Amino acid sequence: MIQVNNLGKIYGNVIAVDKISFKVKKGETFALLGPNGAGKTTTIKAILGLINYEGEIKIDGIDARCKEVKKHIGYLPETVSFYDNLTALQNMHFFAELKGVEKEKCFSLLKEVGLGGDANRRVGGFSKGMLQRLNLAQCMLGSPKLLILDEPTSGLDALGAWEIRNKIKELKKKGITILLSSHILSEVQEVSDRVAILNRGKIIAIDSVENLSKKLDIQPKLKIKIMKMKENILDYVKKIEGVKNAKIVENFLEITCNEEAKANIINEIGKIVKIIDFKTIEPSLEEIFIRMVKKDE
Ligand code: ATP
Repeated sequence: MIQVNNLGKIYGNVIAVDKISFKVKKGETFALLGPNGAGKTTTIKAILGLINYEGEIKIDGIDARCKEVKKHIGYLPETVSFYDNLTALQNMHFFAELKGVEKEKCFSLLKEVGLGGDANRRVGGFSKGMLQRLNLAQCMLGSPKLLILDEPTSGLDALGAWEIRNKIKELKKKGITILLSSHILSEVQEVSDRVAILNRGKIIAIDSVENLSKKLDIQPKLKIKIMKMKENILDYVKKIEGVKNAKIVENFLEITCNEEAKANIINEIGKIVKIIDFKTIEPSLEEIFIRMVKKDE
């Protein structure tokens, strides 16, 4: 759906984006991740045709600079201004006119983002979460095949962010291609199929979270709650096949191990102590991100 070849952008003597290339497949949720100033927004602006750039960007096979292409893209900017004294529905009508798409779907889109009951309320009284949902509704106008979401949960509380994440997952299920940028690593991990990590204008890693953690050899952790710890239990645990490391934290055993060895490890430990509870902590994107950026620097 998106093909970026050798994209470059220089502002004065700052190389904002340094000849990057990547592809986003149809139906994929793809995240751009990077520290401040990495070049995420510049990349998004180039894809949207909002700035001049070097290189080539194609959306569904058409040059991104072509006006026609913009009709198929829904864009959720980090901040958007609505008319406070107009209702949610009137604001949607305004955006529909601006985009040159039919107004008939405005109300059903508001319903889809959970604002059906607030359609005739003035936007001036809306909470941040409601405004972000309205932002999502406006970007879905015209049934775009591609959504570009810049920091979609920025400034939202936990519930608001959860609602937006669920909405993103629903849109993905409908087959819509999504490109998002986010600082929230757990969010990227939850919704994205693949991630591109940018640093100082360059892509330093690109893959699924699972593959990135395999490449970096980041192991999952088992956290097992034990009724009564036994002396020398660590010596016993460290001998079990697949165990890389083990330590005791209060009445928990924390074990780093191979993915495939988890069930056997629990069985073996259950033979000598009573297990009350256990959970697996999968490698986090945060760990991957920090290691990659540090390695690059
Ligand atoms: P953030 O997470 O802080 O939004 P980002 O990854 O989106 O960062 P960009 O906004 O793309 O990064 O910026 C990349 C680099 O280009 C930065 O060094 C920034 O200062 C510079 N830059 C971006 N826009 C401009 C501009 N209009 N004029 C001059 N420099 C710019």
